[in-house]
Amino acid sequence: MAIDERRVQLRNTCEAGTGPVVYVMAREQRVYDNWALLYAQEQAEKRQVPLIVLFALGPMFCSGTARHNAWMVASLKEVQKNLRQYNIPFAVEIGEWVKVIPAFVQTHQVGELVFDFNPLQPVRGWRDEVIKQVDYKVVEVDARNVVPVWEASDKAEFAAHTIRKKIHHKLGEFLTDIPQLQKQSVAYEGDIKTIDWSAVDSYRSFAVEATIPTTFTPGEKAAQDMLRDFIEHRLQGYATKRNDPNEDGVSHLSPYLRWGNISAQRVVLEVKKIRNISGDDTEAFLEELIVRRELTDNFVYYTPEYNQVAGAHAWAQKTISEHADDEREYTYTLEEFEQAQTHDELWNAAQIQMVQTGKMHGYMRMYWAKKILQWTPDAQTAIDTALTLNDRYNLDGRDSNGVVGVMWSICGVHDRAWTERPVFGKIRYMNYNGCKRKFDVDAYVATYTVDQESMFND
Ligand code: FAD
Repeated sequence: MAIDERRVQLRNTCEAGTGPVVYVMAREQRVYDNWALLYAQEQAEKRQVPLIVLFALGPMFCSGTARHNAWMVASLKEVQKNLRQYNIPFAVEIGEWVKVIPAFVQTHQVGELVFDFNPLQPVRGWRDEVIKQVDYKVVEVDARNVVPVWEASDKAEFAAHTIRKKIHHKLGEFLTDIPQLQKQSVAYEGDIKTIDWSAVDSYRSFAVEATIPTTFTPGEKAAQDMLRDFIEHRLQGYATKRNDPNEDGVSHLSPYLRWGNISAQRVVLEVKKIRNISGDDTEAFLEELIVRRELTDNFVYYTPEYNQVAGAHAWAQKTISEHADDEREYTYTLEEFEQAQTHDELWNAAQIQMVQTGKMHGYMRMYWAKKILQWTPDAQTAIDTALTLNDRYNLDGRDSNGVVGVMWSICGVHDRAWTERPVFGKIRYMNYNGCKRKFDVDAYVATYTVDQESMFND
């Protein structure tokens, strides 16, 4: 099956050379169901040249914690093992992309580069710098979204309801079976450096020593196990249980989707096969996985100021500015938030859940971010604080979903104007009593309460 060219964007006007095709794996750390890898293989087979997969560990990963690094190393080791079965060599280079990727291209006389799509900075900027240095064909493949971001829409969408019909309109064309990776027919005869995993492991900042909580196992196999477990035990009832933080009613797939350990398209295909589950549950889940998730890449891709107040709707910027001088009853520093030292036990419990389990419940994320708006001096500080903490502790952080979650909560992105009130202006408000009406707040607080000494001990 030929790969649909609409998944692929040409990033320069150069011709492919006669050397190997290199897939620069970054966002999609998996071997199975990976459109970027499949496309790279298709190109290599067409020209009868070898295929190499390269992971370039750039400085951005240094801003991750030991928790994220451990996830990445485990994922990549599995990638290396799985690629071996297909006769595809795997290389890891450490350093700035603009230096190590062109050097790799030169050393291995590479004829074509394939990137997996990522709209986030700084990766997008690094890729563009690399392109300037390379004289051969460079493409980018959207292996994250079922409907490629540039096919779903050509502009930043206003809200879920405006992108929903566009995505559903094209879903039939893109929700196809995914071909199997084949054993690579032309082997690479050059030298690929042995990977120094301990160097990869130690190439990070230790600003935070959070390790992977035992609730999660990283990698492709674990992702498939999590999907099976969700389908068997939690898909039934998803529509009603997913908003209760005391229930184990969600998929827990977000870390796997974030690291590309599993393809969203595969998840959709597997969920659609299930017949004995209520349509409400599958529909609610697919709305989150397809529409809400693909909307986040749409926002980041088409909004240069995606993590700033300037990236919000005009009405939201106006209301935020009008309430900039409103008195804040409480304000906290990043450190106080980080240590869960606010006056609000519910907020603190959410923070503790994130630090200790690596995944804050989705309902609590909204409350958590909105309170950061309420308790910081201005909206931009609130965005920066929420994103810093989200990306530091949530295993699924540092992705478009986190950006949009924070921007929705603090700046009304993809939302509408609500009744005006102090500090929030017309941004949707959430409060403790509202949570009390929705779920057993005391039970949640009791689950995630620690003395401060043990807050960061995993
Ligand atoms: P499920 O309910 O099982 O959903 C399945 C999948 O659908 C998720 O894995 C995710 O990929 C997608 N999804 C679900 N809800 C949303 C949503 N609101 N927007 C976009 N996609 C969604 N999600 C992240 O993946 N990474 C983040 O860093 C992140 N930060 C957030 C921060 C804030 C302030 C808010 C309000 C939301 C954030 N979300 C984030 C969105 C959502 O909370 C998580 O995707 C969800 O809680 C992940 O758990 P799950 O996989 O068990 O969810």
